[in-house]
Amino acid sequence: MPDLPASVRVGIDIGGTGTRFAAIDEEGVVLARHTVRTPVAVDAGAATAFLADGIAVVTAGAGGQVGPATISGVGIGASGPVDADGIVRNPHTLPGFSDIALAPLVTAASGAPCVVESDAVAAAVAEATVGAGRGAADLLHVTIGTGIGVAVVRHGSPVLGADGFQPEAGHLDVPDEEPAPCYCGRTRCWEQTASRRALQRLAGVEDVGGLDRMAAAALDGVPTAQAVFDRYGQRVGLGLRTLVTVLRPTRVVIGGGGARFLDAYRDATVRTVRAVALHGLDLDLRATALDDDGGAVGAALLAAI
Ligand SMILES: [Zn+2]
Repeated sequence: MPDLPASVRVGIDIGGTGTRFAAIDEEGVVLARHTVRTPVAVDAGAATAFLADGIAVVTAGAGGQVGPATISGVGIGASGPVDADGIVRNPHTLPGFSDIALAPLVTAASGAPCVVESDAVAAAVAEATVGAGRGAADLLHVTIGTGIGVAVVRHGSPVLGADGFQPEAGHLDVPDEEPAPCYCGRTRCWEQTASRRALQRLAGVEDVGGLDRMAAAALDGVPTAQAVFDRYGQRVGLGLRTLVTVLRPTRVVIGGGGARFLDAYRDATVRTVRAVALHGLDLDLRATALDDDGGAVGAALLAAI
């Protein structure tokens, strides 16, 4: 029987659709995970109870792998923005968790110190520490999902704005290929042309299964499928080239649903980024090594910073 860890950290990735709980050991290895639907219309008390229930399940669960472990910290990575005080400011996607001081409520319920960050920052910290950014001094992490989230980690710590917010680079202006309205009120936002949802529209498929089949066809050399992913890769590159030019990261990691198809569009993205003068910068572009665990694992790691 494996030794039970003396203590675990719990990470919680609160997304608009689902919330993922993970318990990790001191090395960042996931010992247990638990995913449930995110409640929408809840007050602060019900939101706290929901989080406390998940913490209890994930620390007690996983087929007994986690024993009577002490929880040394709880980290929350929420669909942002999240301000410098750890308050979620996302009434559109997370109304039940926004504009309340979650950390002291979770601490009171769980007995463990709690920190709250954005899910993009959490995922970037996870990749930098135990994922595809391991070994790189700095990392630019781009989550391609329903929208696009961007975070930077330098020497292990997230780089935030002076106001404590992460860069909201999903709303970078990109060349006006097909103007699409964004919820921010403008029509040329990067995430509207390069999100995973935008890829589905471009490919004319209903779901991820359809994208899987088309990506396989592209990699097999089917011209129509290749054309879809070339065009999508260019769209990803149009935003990425600005970030890479400004930040000159050692490594770029793509996370979220868009990472799954990176092999099919990597060349087009790299070409687009290289078209802007890089002065010898080698673009090291990789897919997530943590898949859907990144946000929760990173949140747990942040609990220790
Ligand atoms: Zn926008």
